[in-house]
Amino acid sequence: MGVRVDQAGKVTGRSLAKTSKDGPEAVLGQIERLVEKLDPDTTADRVGIGAPGTISEGTVDLAVNLAGWDRPVQVAERLQETLQRPVVIDNDVNMALYAETVLGSAQEVSNVLGVWVGTGVGGALVLDGNLRRSTRGLAGEIGHVAVVGGGNRPHLGAAAVTVAACSCGGRGHLEAYAGRAALERLARAEHSSGRPTQLVELAASSRMTSTIWVEAWANGDAVATELLQQAARATATAITAATTLIDLDAVVIGGGFASRLGSPWRRMVAEIHASQMTIGAPATITGSGIGDNAAAIGAALSARALFDER
Ligand SMILES: [Zn+2]
Repeated sequence: MGVRVDQAGKVTGRSLAKTSKDGPEAVLGQIERLVEKLDPDTTADRVGIGAPGTISEGTVDLAVNLAGWDRPVQVAERLQETLQRPVVIDNDVNMALYAETVLGSAQEVSNVLGVWVGTGVGGALVLDGNLRRSTRGLAGEIGHVAVVGGGNRPHLGAAAVTVAACSCGGRGHLEAYAGRAALERLARAEHSSGRPTQLVELAASSRMTSTIWVEAWANGDAVATELLQQAARATATAITAATTLIDLDAVVIGGGFASRLGSPWRRMVAEIHASQMTIGAPATITGSGIGDNAAAIGAALSARALFDER
């Protein structure tokens, strides 16, 4: 998703491209074409990019959810040359949460965690009103915080093997219980063990989409209900740990999957979180105020802010 925004942060153009699975070169080419399409007269004076993964100093160090990105890729420098203007790149959830602090549901709060639940679970952190941009790019990655079993790997003992495996190679991480792709694996495992579920009936051999989850949940499907409750518990547990550590004012739950599950699922997370807070006050939990385009809008706003500072 690419957007063009004006000085006030208003979206004046948007264009959609499905991220290529052919590796870094193909994706960088797509970004160049997206910029050309949105800005044919080259009047936009800077470009911001949000990308999944850990990113530091213009380099995508690790992006487990991008096909073929198996080594660090210097993105900012390369695109600065071809696009002939300043380019900033940061984690997509960092960008999305930044947009929420400027225009969305995290305005005028100091300490905010963003939990973005989509295919995986991304995160971002605002501390004392500023987006936490850590030197190694890891800050806010709540999806890879262990919520079960201490995040241990199999070599630590047989018991650890039963803890859900995460896309990153770890175990017991939030993403392994709340990410859409992980939930699909858990649902198919339930089905294979002999429990019928509408989730598999509706998806057949295709991807188990957010729409399918919403439908099965609304119909009272037992497997969907249990797994979404488990996902809410896992999400609340991670939020409670973060709130206890940092004394968060607010948590914004965004991302495609969580947005489709909507306020009933967020309420479940908020209730469990409140019940878990034995010391201190629970954080206020809200949805994204901007929605699908938050990362792209945040990237543009961030490019504006960063280069204005210089
Ligand atoms: Zn993980």
